[in-house]
Amino acid sequence: MHIGVIGGGLMGVAVAYYLAEAGQQVTVLEQGEELGGLNGELRFEDGLSVARYQHSILPIDRAVINLCSSLGLQEELVFQNAHAGFVHDGQIHAMTNILDFLTFPMLGMLDRFRLGGMILRARSQANWRELDSLPVKEWLLRVGGQETFDRIWRPLLEAKFDGVYDNVSATYIWAWLNRMSAIRRVPRLNGSVGYLRRGHFSLIHALSEAFLRRSGEIVCNVRVREIDVQDGRLGRVRTHTGTLEFDALVAAVATPTFAKMLPGADTDYLGRMEKAKYLGLICPVMVLDKQLSPFWTLNLTDPTNPFSVIIETPHPERPGHHVVYLPRYTAPDNDWMGVSDDEIRTAWLSHLKQIFPVFNESQVRHFAVSRSRFVEPVHTVNTLVNEIGVKTPYQGLYLANTGQVYPELPTSEAVIIQARRVAQTILNN
Ligand SMILES: Cc1cc2nc3c(=O)[nH]c(=O)nc-3n(C[C@H](O)[C@H](O)[C@H](O)COP(=O)(O)OP(=O)(O)OC[C@H]3O[C@@H](n4cnc5c(N)ncnc54)[C@H](O)[C@@H]3O)c2cc1C
Repeated sequence: MHIGVIGGGLMGVAVAYYLAEAGQQVTVLEQGEELGGLNGELRFEDGLSVARYQHSILPIDRAVINLCSSLGLQEELVFQNAHAGFVHDGQIHAMTNILDFLTFPMLGMLDRFRLGGMILRARSQANWRELDSLPVKEWLLRVGGQETFDRIWRPLLEAKFDGVYDNVSATYIWAWLNRMSAIRRVPRLNGSVGYLRRGHFSLIHALSEAFLRRSGEIVCNVRVREIDVQDGRLGRVRTHTGTLEFDALVAAVATPTFAKMLPGADTDYLGRMEKAKYLGLICPVMVLDKQLSPFWTLNLTDPTNPFSVIIETPHPERPGHHVVYLPRYTAPDNDWMGVSDDEIRTAWLSHLKQIFPVFNESQVRHFAVSRSRFVEPVHTVNTLVNEIGVKTPYQGLYLANTGQVYPELPTSEAVIIQARRVAQTILNN
């Protein structure tokens, strides 16, 4: 069977890898110059490279960790203590251990205990399906109270969903709390967070090398424009350079991108896909010649800041240099998407100087801005009813994306598990 995979992000490359491992003939079609998608890398003129977006791996991410080991990447995987904190009213507050929590100034004592109780409750809520139809705000107010919501959850939700979270399902915070508290549940690696020294691009690279060794084919610079569907089955694949035919096809792209490729599809199916919502992202990354702060991640509570979090890691190859990410999630109508890199640099750095008055622009060795329209699916209430599955109404045509990962967060761990499932679904058909 010759199987086509559209999209050379982690999902597409992992699906291709598992299918090739099972002996299938697979061709990956990627519109970019190289593989990677959200896991791509940026290269600067002096040869220095950085991950386009920062990716971390938690000790509980067994599928990714095992995959890295089987691909010979174990030496690349580094775990470090996860110093996390908040910037509130211009002050940095650590949020790493129980003492930090008990002295956290953003909440009164009663609300601190409410927050602690809530985290325990989220961890023990086994039946997440009960939360599917509940708006996140309603649940948070119910279990944590108004004060905790206003001081902690509102700023976090506003930053994450760019202010548009009214219809977001409570499963989002449930999944987030469970994932974050799981960092502290593995005694051997208590409080640590891992990352691949050269970014997730090394995982993409290792997967594609293994895939090529199994006679897989990768074609970059090919944009799929249209997928023909006739008589309930997959037809030809039209690219900007010609047409291709496959026995089966997996579209490893976001749901709105897939819908655009299917103008001839059933209107009911297209209508369901149109409901899929995604967040976009603008993410400046800087290489500094000195450390900005000892924190791996700092969440900002001030909604006037153009970025919502500061993430910092040492550069893997330049001693003393640090890579700093300043991401901002965007709703579809966010104005920042159309703003120039120079204007973004000016706005972002002026806010950074307010947080770190000693920060000086002369420390910036490199600065680049990445933008992506479909980075994370937004699971609104009743996601269980509206799910767009792996099998499409057309025989031989499959969809694989993070919109199908639910209720878990769309992490690389979830992508690897989903990619294995998708490959198995195709093989079983
Ligand atoms: C800022 C950020 C931080 C993250 N942090 C973490 C983290 O810390 N830990 C973690 O585990 N996960 C993290 N993630 C999640 C992780 O990056 C994603 O889940 C994963 O990369 C999704 O991969 P994908 O292949 O589904 O999508 P993508 O990477 O978007 O891949 C889709 C690919 O399809 C291609 N394509 C699209 N249209 C066409 C077309 N018409 N023809 C041909 N090709 C096409 C695109 O060019 C792209 O390469 C983060 C994501 C972001 C954005």
